[in-house]
Amino acid sequence: MAIERTLSMLKPDAVKNNITGKINSYIESSELKIIAQKMMLLTKKQAELFYEIHKDRSFFLELVEFMTSGPVIVQVLVGENAVSKYRQIMGATDPKQAEKGTIRGDFADDISENRVHGSDSLENARKEIAFFFAECELV
Ligand code: ATP
Ligand code: MG
Repeated sequence: MAIERTLSMLKPDAVKNNITGKINSYIESSELKIIAQKMMLLTKKQAELFYEIHKDRSFFLELVEFMTSGPVIVQVLVGENAVSKYRQIMGATDPKQAEKGTIRGDFADDISENRVHGSDSLENARKEIAFFFAECELV
């Protein structure tokens, strides 16, 4: 098993609904460790770049609008198999498919407002971490 880093984001709906502490407790109850965390308001440009892979999808405009609708919390998580482990803790993209006991299964009910983001591969984790954090901010 490899020790990995992954990028997590608590989306505007999580901040708005005052559930960031509850979400962090799901992370901290796993073997993952939060080694960096900050609140920020994404610019339209940042949201477009972050989700660039989806730029041709029908939901892209709605996604960018949502991601810039309020502050988010970006985090770096570390642990064994952090990328896939966090995806498991998050649950399926569509909360209707997400299992109980996962963040999306317990706190979300709409695919377009699904509370959290997690990197989907080690390569994307590296890119996404560098997008938001300088190496010296990872403690
Ligand atoms: P994320 O990248 O946010 O962690 P994910 O990797 O589970 O989510 P993606 O396929 O990357 O899912 O989609 C990115 C985001 O776009 C989803 O989290 C969701 O908010 C939104 N999204 C995806 N599919 C749809 C859809 N069919 N309708 C509306 N929004 C969608
Ligand atoms: Mg994704």
